[in-house]
Amino acid sequence: MTTIKASCPSCGEVELTSDDIRLRVCSHGQLSYYTFTCPSCVENIRKPADDHIVSLLMSGGVEAEVWDVPAEALEPKAGAELTYDDLLDFLLQLSRDDLLASRASAPAHR
Ligand SMILES: [Zn+2]
Repeated sequence: MTTIKASCPSCGEVELTSDDIRLRVCSHGQLSYYTFTCPSCVENIRKPADDHIVSLLMSGGVEAEVWDVPAEALEPKAGAELTYDDLLDFLLQLSRDDLLASRASAPAHR
């Protein structure tokens, strides 16, 4: 079986076999990645896999699993990014029972 060298952020270079690596090739190429469990520190490592890495891993016997990114994940997002303050404001609004109750009991608009 082919030995594949990969690097762990903590341990440095480690040796793996094709069975140790899970290659996930995405229909949206930039989101392809591979994962493995480091044999030294037992950390789960995930790294991006560009076309070159996909080719190298497949030539080493790693089977590619194809996945599709959900369309909504690629939709253009308008407006400013949400911040933690926005999320906290939203939570505070939800926790106002009277406001929530009045909205829930209001007749539906037709
Ligand atoms: Zn490690």
